[in-house]
Amino acid sequence: MNKLLIVGTVAFDAIETPFGKTDKILGGAATYIGLSASFFNLQSAIVSVVGGDFPQEHLDLLTSRNIDISGIEIVKEGKTFFWSGLYHNDLNSRDTLVTELNVLADFQPKVPQNFKDAEVVMLGNLHPLVQSSVLDQMETTPKLVVLDTMNFWMDCALPELLDVIKRVDVITINDEEARQLSGEYSLVKAAAKIHTLGPKYVVIKKGEHGALLFHGAEVFFAPALPLEEVFDPTGAGDTFAGGFSGYIAQSENVSFENMKNGIIYGSNLASFCVEKFGTERMVSLNENEVNQRLRQFKALTQFNIEL
Ligand code: AMP
Repeated sequence: MNKLLIVGTVAFDAIETPFGKTDKILGGAATYIGLSASFFNLQSAIVSVVGGDFPQEHLDLLTSRNIDISGIEIVKEGKTFFWSGLYHNDLNSRDTLVTELNVLADFQPKVPQNFKDAEVVMLGNLHPLVQSSVLDQMETTPKLVVLDTMNFWMDCALPELLDVIKRVDVITINDEEARQLSGEYSLVKAAAKIHTLGPKYVVIKKGEHGALLFHGAEVFFAPALPLEEVFDPTGAGDTFAGGFSGYIAQSENVSFENMKNGIIYGSNLASFCVEKFGTERMVSLNENEVNQRLRQFKALTQFNIEL
């Protein structure tokens, strides 16, 4: 079975959307990536850090999805990373209210020995030095390295971020972040500029407007499924990344053609994530629902014009 190594935050989130508000609930980039990737046939592990305040039941949830958590360090006297966000009426834009790094501030990641030969490495959102350190620890060259990041790291650790971006094959970021990173408004120009920073593949996520995959002059677009109810977009980007990297790890094919399918799998899984607050929907999701929605995705985009 192929291996997927995931690094990212395992966190507490407090979220406010036009539909409600939560206290501290389970969140974090690696949490969403891991839950999403658990729908594929692979071995996965998370490298992260939590504090002594992190409930065992959340760790048990990850283990119950066959995720190896031996790379999640528990700092007993420390506090878990905390993020709080407020979404506006259109749900496409949000303000970060609080980012408390806590135990993440001094985190030295340790990749479990049996994942140092993972075929796919998914560098989820956290400090770019931690992302680099994970790559340094790999004993064999991964078939694919995917990186996700966010404006927070562009604001406070840009040189380190540019260093790690040079080392990856695929970058997944949202439209606003692509503009910030490239200084270009047009997403086509932004992707071209980001290619010159290193990644051969650039995925730009556009929330309810789908996702674009750029590979030089080649472009692919996947829509987001029009949903009746969207409650909370938190984690949609990470769930997308988990679906994309999980599918690639399972299929062992890193061609552009196969990445198109990865984009569809990622979009499909992310469409569930937003239906409830936090991780709730990803936890209740089953394989039948995933497959049924994939059929909907196919129907949404298929047409028979002959040219
Ligand atoms: P997304 O909605 O996909 O952008 O991801 C939201 C998740 O990212 C939340 O669960 C947060 O805990 C986590 N998060 C927020 N800010 C950061 C940050 N600066 N670094 C790492 N993870 C973060």
